[in-house]
Amino acid sequence: MNLVSELKFVPTTCPYCGTGCSFYLVVRDNKVLGIEPWHTPPINEGKLCQKGRYAHQFIHSKDRLSNPLVKRNGVFEEATWDEAYRLIAKRFGSFRPEEFGCLASAKASNEENYLMQKFARIVLKTNSVDHCARLCHSSTVSALSEVFGSGAMTNSILDLQESNCLFVIGSNTFEQHPLIGRRLMLARKMGAKIIYADPRRTPTARQADLYLSMYSGTDVALLNGLMHHIIENGWEDREFIESRTKGFDLLKKTVMNERYSLKSVSRLTGIPEIDLAKAAEWIAKSKPCALIYSMGITQHTVGVDNVKSVANLMMLTGNIGKRGSGVNPLRGQNNVQGACDMGCLPDVYSGYQKVADEDSREKMKLLWGVEEIAIGKGYTVTEMMNVLANEPGKIKCLYLMGENPMLSDPDLNHVRAALENIEFMVSQEIFLSETAEFADVVLPAACYAEKDGTHTNTERRVQRWRKAVDPPGMAKPDWLIICEMARLMGYGKCFSYKDESEIFDEIARATPSYHGMNYKRLEHPGALQWPCPDENHPGTQILHEKRFATKDGLGVFSAVEWQPPAEVTDPEYPLILTTGRCIWHWHTGTMTRRSKNLDSEVKTGWVEINSRDARDLNIDDRELVRVSSRRGSIEIPAMVTEEIKQGEVFIPFHFKECPANLLTNDAVDSIAKIPEYKACAVRIEKIGVMRE
Ligand code: SF4
Repeated sequence: MNLVSELKFVPTTCPYCGTGCSFYLVVRDNKVLGIEPWHTPPINEGKLCQKGRYAHQFIHSKDRLSNPLVKRNGVFEEATWDEAYRLIAKRFGSFRPEEFGCLASAKASNEENYLMQKFARIVLKTNSVDHCARLCHSSTVSALSEVFGSGAMTNSILDLQESNCLFVIGSNTFEQHPLIGRRLMLARKMGAKIIYADPRRTPTARQADLYLSMYSGTDVALLNGLMHHIIENGWEDREFIESRTKGFDLLKKTVMNERYSLKSVSRLTGIPEIDLAKAAEWIAKSKPCALIYSMGITQHTVGVDNVKSVANLMMLTGNIGKRGSGVNPLRGQNNVQGACDMGCLPDVYSGYQKVADEDSREKMKLLWGVEEIAIGKGYTVTEMMNVLANEPGKIKCLYLMGENPMLSDPDLNHVRAALENIEFMVSQEIFLSETAEFADVVLPAACYAEKDGTHTNTERRVQRWRKAVDPPGMAKPDWLIICEMARLMGYGKCFSYKDESEIFDEIARATPSYHGMNYKRLEHPGALQWPCPDENHPGTQILHEKRFATKDGLGVFSAVEWQPPAEVTDPEYPLILTTGRCIWHWHTGTMTRRSKNLDSEVKTGWVEINSRDARDLNIDDRELVRVSSRRGSIEIPAMVTEEIKQGEVFIPFHFKECPANLLTNDAVDSIAKIPEYKACAVRIEKIGVMRE
């Protein structure tokens, strides 16, 4: 028997981070056997990080959901699709629009996210639809929309390697987006300098030419200090400022205050003055310079201010609209950009068309063929949790697609209290997650390898997923589940699609930046980056080349003052906790902890503590400790290290047995409503048991 001839190689895109690497799924007899390199797509050129390399291992896990489950007397029982749908339709029909909350998913496809917000807005008549972008990059969307007119990465992954200077702040790029890290190394080989600012000496810090070891929550102070030094030395780009921007005088007045002199900023951030001066000079003089950031910048109560400050620095030095420059937010999940683009946010339809704008509302009604559509303000996910916990009975029903707030949201005791107050909850999932356990009905969904679709990576590139195998048992793609439910609830005409490509055609009609895209054009490896306004348009690699997307075409400087985190240290809680990911695991671990090779590398969480703090607390490496905040306590092994700043500790948030988010603070940015995952006060106590 010739085994090789039976193999199928199905080209698709990685389900993990927002880099959007492509590969082949190797398939035989309806089983995914492995992953092989696909060399043609431009982003990763056949290379993968460890998560991508093993992205097939969870697909056929024995505990995949394969039947609808209905909870009876507190116990899940298998049900038919018909039973589950009828129960959902009956219960959904019993609530008022303001009593619903819907959560879409940054892991699902564009088509599925588009249908989720359409279902919320025309079947449930609610704008309370949100997703986990709220928790990672809502501050990027809010801030960059205001100052540039578009809330997305300005440049492309490929052109980062043409930079002469790469300023990485609040992004552990080499661990979280390794194939973007590769571009940084290629730039460095060509002579670019890398500056890295973070409280932890991560693998990214080890590749940097200049490491700025800063305290959590001092980003605006650092950025204003750099701008202070640049203006003081006359290194700003006068021509760019005069021809492309407005608001410079106010910015100058703010940053030239003595508060942002190098001496003051050094005291606030903990970074030596000499390093601040060097960083300012490199950023201003090594054109083009690109700034790369991620959740170290966004996940703060001042997340919007942080992003505006980042934009100020790049406009000040004329580093926008050119290859190798720009403001480059690295999106965490594979389709967090797409889920935002598709309108899974309470205030916008797809393409960021405002729900409050009457013309946009009429356009959507016409396109969807309905007389009625949701009106009024919807809740963000953080607001939903607060209302559920604090005002029982106001929100009664939650409909989730692939979201796991019981591990990913801040202050998990608060989330638990919120979920316990729900009258009726439906969860579409591939595994019975910590959150799905709270549901009344669980619907088994297809994973990325079991469906067609598109998703949009961090640089606005829309790429294809291609079906390689059938879903397990009775599981179905999320888009089909939504359409079948809509049909039962009387909206069959608005949810009648032959396949995913027909849904995408409607997305293209609804969404100006996707107008020129269709499945045929997206067949091309690497496909298209938005904006792509018509079918002859080649897509857009670099935004704001000649003008910004604001009404008058000018970029807007913002005067931003530094403010401390919502929770600072005191004698009871003397350390600052920051949270994040590790290279081997992904988000709440639902997929990576079921992947043999990834799980065998890192089996549980840890708390990183500086060796001087550990000595003061008499804590040894690998010793079990108790970490407590004002919200709760966890027990976790200590990792004693020089690689984190004294006074700071770090815990990865993947692990349910030692969940970092039991400790984090749910205080949010007043505009973007993003929680402050990156700074809360904790204390550590010795327990005295060694962990092997
Ligand atoms: Fe997947 Fe991101 Fe790794 Fe690429 S860098 S293989 S997209 S996890």
